[in-house]
Amino acid sequence: MATQTKKIEALRRLCGGILRTRFAPSPTGYLHLGHAYSALCAWHAVGERKEHFHLRIDDLDETRCKDSFTQQIFSDLRWLGITWQDPVLYQSRRHALYAKKLAILEKQGLVYPCYLSRKEAGSLLSAPHLSADGLAPAPSTRHLLDSDGSRQRAASGMPPVWRLDSQRALASLGGSTLYWRDHDGTKHSVNPAEFGDVVLGRRDSPASYHLSTVIDDGDSAITLVVRGADLAPVTQIHRLLQAVLGLPSPIYWHHPLITDEAGQRLAKRHDALALKTLRETQKQPADILKSLPETGITI
Ligand code: GLU
Repeated sequence: MATQTKKIEALRRLCGGILRTRFAPSPTGYLHLGHAYSALCAWHAVGERKEHFHLRIDDLDETRCKDSFTQQIFSDLRWLGITWQDPVLYQSRRHALYAKKLAILEKQGLVYPCYLSRKEAGSLLSAPHLSADGLAPAPSTRHLLDSDGSRQRAASGMPPVWRLDSQRALASLGGSTLYWRDHDGTKHSVNPAEFGDVVLGRRDSPASYHLSTVIDDGDSAITLVVRGADLAPVTQIHRLLQAVLGLPSPIYWHHPLITDEAGQRLAKRHDALALKTLRETQKQPADILKSLPETGITI
């Protein structure tokens, strides 16, 4: 118990005195054991201060998100014994806010419109750009802005996607190295060459995951972001966006991913390991906890 309290205290100090975290599932399917682990890591991290655990519903993708999945998320979390501070934040209700921030970045010349289709943009990437962790830098298409093709597409009313000019964004900060910090205090530098000109505004929505998550974590004053190790490579993008938007940077804890028996990371297709299915087969929350690795901070 004393060690756990010490761990939480150390984390709280790293977070600047207040450890406020969130769980941010996308309601595109049922929560599985991997989500349960992520939620529990965050739930344990706040220690006794459960009012500092927030829930955000990442429901920007209108075609894939369903209210029935959101309702099941509420039910599964409650079943696990996890409660959250009201109100729940729904990304789908925050379009205007995202659009406003995107407009600020446009005014600063840090984003530019891109009229290429996803396929065309993809073909600008050549294989050697793929790094070991699978993060392929998004191409810069700024030089195509004045091309006839782009002009024609703009004139025909085709909406663009908005790309971050990542080199310019970093340069706009004055040239010193930018870092994000993880939960053991390690500093990681931000290198735009590793991620390129990522999309911030989509054709079907004013914000991509990168932009919306950074704005929301900032608005909710989140000081500790707990999420899977698969997202560690994109954290440098988030750090750069925080810096250009003038938002504070949380501490990041990227926990190990839960895998199936074949060592594959769990996905929404793993219906058998969905919490809903496990509940239907009479499993109890204690069985779930037993089947997951220690979060490192147990309650
Ligand atoms: N909705 C995102 C996901 O489920 C959240 C990622 C994050 O925590 O930043 O992967």
